[in-house]
Amino acid sequence: MPDYIGHYIDGQRCGDRGSRTSAVFNPATGEQIGVVFLAAASDVHRAVVCAAEAFPAWSLTPPLRRARILNRFLRLLEERAGQLAAAISLEHGKVFADAFAEVQRGIEVVEFSTGAPHLLKGEFSESVGTRIDSHSVRQPLGVVAGITPFNFPAMVPMWMFPVALACGNCFILKPSERTPTAALLLAEWLTEAGLPPGVFNVVQGDKEAVDTLLVHPDVAAVSFVGSTPIARYIYETAARFGKRCQALGGAKNHMVVMPDADLDQVVDALIGSAFGAAGERCMAVSVVVPIGDKTADELVTRLIPRVRALRIGPGTNPDAEMGPLITRQHLGKVLAYIESGVTQGAKLLVDGRDFKIRGYEEGYFVGGTLFDHVKPNMSIYREEIFGPVLCTARAESTEMAINMINRNEFGNGTAIFTRDGETAREFAHCIKVGMVGINVAIPVPMAFHAFGGWKSSLFGGQHVHGPEGVRFYTQLKTITTRWLKEGRAGAEFVMPTLH
Ligand code: NAD
Repeated sequence: MPDYIGHYIDGQRCGDRGSRTSAVFNPATGEQIGVVFLAAASDVHRAVVCAAEAFPAWSLTPPLRRARILNRFLRLLEERAGQLAAAISLEHGKVFADAFAEVQRGIEVVEFSTGAPHLLKGEFSESVGTRIDSHSVRQPLGVVAGITPFNFPAMVPMWMFPVALACGNCFILKPSERTPTAALLLAEWLTEAGLPPGVFNVVQGDKEAVDTLLVHPDVAAVSFVGSTPIARYIYETAARFGKRCQALGGAKNHMVVMPDADLDQVVDALIGSAFGAAGERCMAVSVVVPIGDKTADELVTRLIPRVRALRIGPGTNPDAEMGPLITRQHLGKVLAYIESGVTQGAKLLVDGRDFKIRGYEEGYFVGGTLFDHVKPNMSIYREEIFGPVLCTARAESTEMAINMINRNEFGNGTAIFTRDGETAREFAHCIKVGMVGINVAIPVPMAFHAFGGWKSSLFGGQHVHGPEGVRFYTQLKTITTRWLKEGRAGAEFVMPTLH
C-alpha cells in the first residue's frame, strides 16, 4: 500500500483524499512507493491565508529570536541528516552519500541564516543636512513562495526558506511532485524547533498550485529553481502580477582543459562532476573542452576506462557511485539524446544504452556515456540532457573555447583546469557565466556567497542565499529625520537641497 503524501499548512500535515494525485516511484526499482496529493487552488489559498495571518507576529519577532528557532532547527537537522538523506535517496535515486552531502550543503544556509541580527543591520548617516539624519532598514516582504525541482529536494528549498524566514517573511514551499517527502520532514522539524504555525507551509502539487501562487495578490515574491522554459514562464508571469522574482533555470556547463593541466586531476574531477547524481545536477560538467588535439586525445584515452568502470546501482548500495535517473520518461529522453548524438555525427566512445543491473531490471538506469567530436550545432551540445552523458567538444585555442562558451544559451557554471595563473585569470574575467571554477569542477558557492547563473540560467538578476538572498527577501526603506528646536522652519517650495 503506497504512502499518501500531503501538504503542511498551519503547523500540521493535511490533505484531502478527494484531491487529484500523482504517483511517486522508487527510480531504482520502478515500483510505486507513494501517492502525492496535488493541491487545488483552494488548498493554496488556505496556505496563503495562514501565512498572511502569521506574518504580522513573525515579522515583529526580534531577529535574534527568529535566529534561535533556526538554531534549534539546525541542531535537529544535524541529528537527523541521515533520515532526511534516506528519504531523498529513496525518491530521487541518488546514492545515500550524495544525498547526505546535499543535506550538508542545505545546513550551511541555515547556519548563515542564524546570523539574522547581523544580516539585517541597516545603515545610518548622521548630519545628511543641518540637524538631519538618515537611516535605512530592510523590512520583510510578507508571504513569499518557493517552487523547487526534483533534483535537490532538501538543498534547493534550503537555499530559500532559511534566509526568507530569518528576514521575517512567511514561506510557502511547492516542492517537486516527484520528490515530495523531504519538504514535509523539514516542515515538521521547523515546527518542532518552535516555528509558529503558518510561518512555513508546504503545498504539494503541479502547474495548478504554481499558477495559483503566481497570480495570488497576497504572495509578494517567488523564488524558482527548475528548467529554463518553466523559469522563463515563472519570471514573466510573476512580473506581470507585480511580484519580485528570481527564477533559476537549466544549464550546460563547460570545463576547459588546458594543455598544461594535470590530467590525473582533470579526469578525477570530470568523472565526479559529469556522472555524480547521474548527471542530474545543474552544476554538472556536461561538456569538456580540451585545447588542442594532443590534449583531447590523451584526455579521452584516460576517460574511456574510467567511464566504463563507473559503479552504478541503487542509492542504498554503499559501493555505488551513481544511481538511476528520476523517471522512466526521463530515461527515454536521455536515450533519445544519445541516439541523436550518433545520428548527428558525434563519435560515441562509451555507450550507456542497454545498461541493466540484475535484480533492478525495472529501474531507470543508464550507463555512463562519452562522446567525442561534438559540435555546437548538435542537439546534445545545445540542449540540457540532464543525464550521465559527457560531450567532448574540441577547441583549437582558449579564445575559441571562450567564444563557444559565451555563445552558449546557458551560463550557470564553468571551470578551467590549468597551471597557468594568467590564463585562468583571463578566463574568469572574460567568461559570461555566473559561477566559475579554477581547478574546481563544481564551483557551487558557499552559503555566505550567492548562487546563480547568467543568461538563460537565471531570470531576474538576484542570486540566491548570501547577501543577495537577504536583499531579495527584504525591501529597503530609507528614513530621513529632523528634530527641530522650538520655532518654525518655514515653508519650502523648491526641491530640498543641502543647507
Ligand atoms: P521542472 O522545471 O520540470 O520543475 C521545476 C518545478 O516547476 C517543479 O516544482 C514543477 O512542479 C514545476 N513545474 C513543472 N512544469 C510546470 C509548468 N508547466 N507550470 C508551472 N510549474 C511547473 O524541473 P525539474 O525537472 O524538476 O528539475 C530539473 C531542472 O532544474 C533542470 O533543468 C536543472 O538544470 C534545473 N535546476 C537548476 C538549478 C539552478 O540552480 N539553476 C538547480 C537545480 C536544478
